[in-house]
Amino acid sequence: MSTNIPALQIEGMFKSFGEHEVLKGIDLTANTGDVISIIGSSGSGKSTFLRCINLLETPNAGAVHLHGELIKMRSLKDGSQEAADKKQLQRMRTKLAMVFQSFNLWSHLTILENVIEAPIHVLGVSRKEAIERADALLQKVGMFERRDYYPGHISGGQQQRAAIARALAIEPEVLLFDEPTSALDPELVGEVLRVMTDLAEEGRTMLVVTHEMSFAKGVSNQVMFLHQGLVEEFGDPKEIFENPKSERMKQFLQRDF
Ligand code: ADP
Ligand code: MG
Repeated sequence: MSTNIPALQIEGMFKSFGEHEVLKGIDLTANTGDVISIIGSSGSGKSTFLRCINLLETPNAGAVHLHGELIKMRSLKDGSQEAADKKQLQRMRTKLAMVFQSFNLWSHLTILENVIEAPIHVLGVSRKEAIERADALLQKVGMFERRDYYPGHISGGQQQRAAIARALAIEPEVLLFDEPTSALDPELVGEVLRVMTDLAEEGRTMLVVTHEMSFAKGVSNQVMFLHQGLVEEFGDPKEIFENPKSERMKQFLQRDF
């Protein structure tokens, strides 16, 4: 795979809900191995941006390229868009895995069953092979010993680590995280951030919506600051945190995290 082609490229992403314009033209290029933290106040459009990237929401306008391949969209009469090729969309979705604030594990399935579900049913991997791979991923996130537990019987930190293993199981090219530690008790945040840091160090391509400024500063190599649906500042975390250019970014950083 050529390294010159960005892992993910977004051009001119717009999204409105009714009259409310939430994304006002966002561009982003993530090269392979980039870890991009997306920060900004509540309501600035961070979740909507991630959801539009993997088409959980349909953007009004905007192009998404995954390793140079454009996800084909078609315009609808109401001004919104939808994926034009369902097969392509399904294939693209296996390349973009999302980790949610609320874990979103299936509560009626054990941790192991959660992790093997998509490989078996979406990727068509044999059960035996899916279990072998899942076990390795559960080892990686420190959840192998809990593989036969149900989500309701383990802590939030453990659930989120299992959700990360599930995301990795489809062997995605880009990982999207939407505030993965925001629902956790403070003492459980560290174990999830450690797993994410390991993934970053392995060279995974990651977009991470986060309020954890230590992660944004210390682990990511790019930071995007969103304000009211626009990119207000983008760049090297050291530069952005030590020398913010925009007033809004300065105000944001004065908050107590
Ligand atoms: P953030 O993740 O930065 O807190 P969101 O992307 O969740 O922000 O939301 C941005 C704005 O879009 C908010 O004003 C929110 O109320 C609105 N919004 C998000 N999702 C929907 C939706 N499905 N329908 C209507 N409004 C929405
Ligand atoms: Mg959000």
